[in-house]
Amino acid sequence: MIQKVPMSCLPRRRRPSLRFHGQGASTAWNRQLLSAIRVIVAERRENLNLSKLDGITVSFDLDGAIRAVESGQQVFSVREKRVALQYRTVSAGCVIEVMRQERHVSHVILDAAYLAQLVDDPQAESWAANIVAHELAHVGVSHWLTKPAWSYLFPTQRSDWRYETLRYLTLNFWDEYAACRLSARIGEPKSVLINFMNCLRTTVVGGLPRLRLYTRKNWRTLEALKSFVCAAGAARRPLLSAAYLMGHIDGLRFPTDVATLCTAARVSPLAPCWMPLHHALRAVWERSEPKFGFEALDGLTPVLMQAIQICGGERMIADVEPW
Ligand SMILES: [Zn+2]
Repeated sequence: MIQKVPMSCLPRRRRPSLRFHGQGASTAWNRQLLSAIRVIVAERRENLNLSKLDGITVSFDLDGAIRAVESGQQVFSVREKRVALQYRTVSAGCVIEVMRQERHVSHVILDAAYLAQLVDDPQAESWAANIVAHELAHVGVSHWLTKPAWSYLFPTQRSDWRYETLRYLTLNFWDEYAACRLSARIGEPKSVLINFMNCLRTTVVGGLPRLRLYTRKNWRTLEALKSFVCAAGAARRPLLSAAYLMGHIDGLRFPTDVATLCTAARVSPLAPCWMPLHHALRAVWERSEPKFGFEALDGLTPVLMQAIQICGGERMIADVEPW
């Protein structure tokens, strides 16, 4: 017999919050910025699954806003939208995964310093609009995660956990590629393109990432997990930067590639990775199964392994078998 549950007993999903944290430019300015963001959310909702959106917090103090959202919450991961400032990259916003009423949801935090154009020049197609759309796209892309991404893998049940760990580490490639592709046409595509080109150049121009491999010989033991993730993470960084640019050019349907757009990428020892990475990301985008899972990332894992190899980490991935 099916028992009916009165509506009043069901947990009510609250509407996503939209608030300014800390000091703003002025009360009226803050309000105008929130209104502009509200308009973008309404527009993007038509194309994105925003059922996981917990809320949006805007602040000139990104770290303070993150701390405020984190307080009393279990926070699982932060995805960032990066901006190249000549020689370093900083983040213009991020998405935090939190638990609310036993639901795993996403909270967007935006740095108001990068959003001023939405108020000061509202008629312009701005880079700011792209930043908002990019973070919202992350919320849409992650709708399949009903718990923290790492908890699908850890504690690992397999004696050789390396393949599964590498595949997990490629999730960010997909996340950033998809978020960039979904938001490519929002705002001012040319500035966004130049930003991603600069980010990639900044990441590869200094040479190959250095992997800390120490003198470890046995990379299958669980004691090696932390060093393994750190070393793979270092090799992953340039590929991640390339994934942003690949998502953006595919979203704009530009018939080009990162090697053509970025000289530093073209001459990098990692150059053999760009094409396979791009193909693998497109394959994930074009997959036919409606349900997303980590298996969708199988095509990306060999590319990360190739990058690790090029960076000198061959022995940490010796005999890693896909399964
Ligand atoms: Zn992002």
